[in-house]
Amino acid sequence: MHIDLTEMLRCPEPHDEAFLVMSTGEMRGRMVRSGLLGCPVCGREYPLMKGVARFSGSGERGAAPSAAPSGAAPRSPLPDAETLQALLDLSGPGGYVVLVGSAARHAVGLAGLMGGIHYVGIDAPPDVEELSVLSLLACDTMIPLRRAMARAVVVGRDRAEAAWLAEAQRILLPGRRLVVERDDVTPPAGLTQVASGQGLLVAERR
Ligand SMILES: [Zn+2]
Repeated sequence: MHIDLTEMLRCPEPHDEAFLVMSTGEMRGRMVRSGLLGCPVCGREYPLMKGVARFSGSGERGAAPSAAPSGAAPRSPLPDAETLQALLDLSGPGGYVVLVGSAARHAVGLAGLMGGIHYVGIDAPPDVEELSVLSLLACDTMIPLRRAMARAVVVGRDRAEAAWLAEAQRILLPGRRLVVERDDVTPPAGLTQVASGQGLLVAERR
């Protein structure tokens, strides 16, 4: 995980957002390979191991969004990086783009098109590896990031459910866009639908 992302993290427990405190172990350049994140509000600690900040496994509370896709997902091909860049209305460097679930696979393609953006993968598939442009956070209950911090969010087909879309809305900056890799979902309150079809939904935060 990139060290600068620390200030964008939030504790996944249901209390007010507060900065997490990072104790770094092994570093590789600006990337933290191992360390410990502590929450000053509830006192919980989250390990950072092999570059991945792990927020899951703190208990078996209910009401967690399911990771399993519900029903038969449409078999549309994944969008290419150029299409995603256009749909997300991304131009110019800077800031964070958040990729939820299988959407983390887009980090390499998007980074190849645009430098100077840092990507954050949430619960990425096991075959997706950390890169200098991609930080990985493991959390199966929510997106452990502060509100209104993302320039754009892509939600993969495996996380295209109401709870995760509401989380995407929470972390998006006003006026910025969300792409969902399914076109049969409804955007949550606070998002305006821009386009839908061919396996994709595009919405913009009001
Ligand atoms: Zn906490």
